Amino acid sequence: MVPFVDLTLTNAPLQGEIKTAIAEIVDRGDFIMGQAVTSFETAFAKACNVPYALGVACGTDAIALGLRACGVGPGDEVILPANTFIATLIGIERSGAKPILVDCDRHTALIDLDAAAAAVTARTKAIVPVHLYGQMVSPSALREFSATHNVLVFEDAAQALMAEREGYRAGSVGVAAAFSFYPSKNLGAFGDGGLVVTQDEAVAQKLRSLRNYGAPKKYVHADKGTNSRLDSIQAAILNVKLPHLQGWNRDRNQAAQLYDRLLDSIPGIDPIRNDSGEGHVYHLYVVRVEGDRDALQQKLGDRGISTGIHYPIPCHLQPGYRDLGYPEGAFPQSETLCETILSLPMYPGITEAQVRATCEAIAS
Ligand SMILES: *Cc1c(COP(=O)(O)O)cnc(C)c1O
Repeated sequence: MVPFVDLTLTNAPLQGEIKTAIAEIVDRGDFIMGQAVTSFETAFAKACNVPYALGVACGTDAIALGLRACGVGPGDEVILPANTFIATLIGIERSGAKPILVDCDRHTALIDLDAAAAAVTARTKAIVPVHLYGQMVSPSALREFSATHNVLVFEDAAQALMAEREGYRAGSVGVAAAFSFYPSKNLGAFGDGGLVVTQDEAVAQKLRSLRNYGAPKKYVHADKGTNSRLDSIQAAILNVKLPHLQGWNRDRNQAAQLYDRLLDSIPGIDPIRNDSGEGHVYHLYVVRVEGDRDALQQKLGDRGISTGIHYPIPCHLQPGYRDLGYPEGAFPQSETLCETILSLPMYPGITEAQVRATCEAIAS
């Protein structure tokens, strides 16, 4: 039996420490914006090589409020890839900006920056590259894109906690970036959680206000804000887990290297290309399947090997988003990917035997 993810392997050994950290909050009673939030924000900013980190309620809010804090809003256009988790699109729409979808690169599944360049208009205010599956979009290419087209880069780093490429950490490339601590992300809370990092003090100040009823000072509401905060209890859990993240990411990368080696000899199975070596944090290990993908998934399931599809429908073809006006065929690479990809079991603590068993089952 190989599960798709196994969160108990990382959570169980830390249970004692986590219980103590939660008990401290219960004793202090600082449930909202308490000490644990401040200390986690400080530690996380340091881990990303950026000066400011601000906790919010979830990754979707991190995108919506983060973009607003950067000055993005109604009348602006924001470019994103068509093959991402829907939260990227939801966050952009909630900022008030108009989402402009573009296709992805067929080898890496990352946003196609040539397609993005072609989509730039006078209204384009920002691009939201998604560091999909745990691999960063090239920082040098993003910075060049930003300078050439005079648009902000706001990274969706929800799947790429502490990923690296070209000497950059995820979150340190653009003006700001969004992270998610959904339980199955590389650093998972015991519920929802999210965070924005930024290099810009003014953006940090604005976000501090927006997440807290738009009040830079108590009962003075300078902005139309909301209530979106990282709970102290979630922050305390994340504080215990953060020091382990790099080790867990290394585990994922090693399992991926073993997959790469074992799958190399299996015809018709083509892993999504890794252009960032050890810096890829493999939130997901994804392959393209030639032939009947759904039958392969079914047969693996029959043998006790759980897999996933991330994601089966591109954003522009989602029933709730047909009003964006993109027809079928608008983004051929994204559409082909959705029909052919399969995510294999991947989590820190997956054993060599489990990776081998998965590959042997695929081969047979
Ligand atoms: C998980 C995820 C989000 C949103 O995070 P939530 O915390 O679930 O709101 C955004 N973008 C991507 C690419 C994600 O994978």
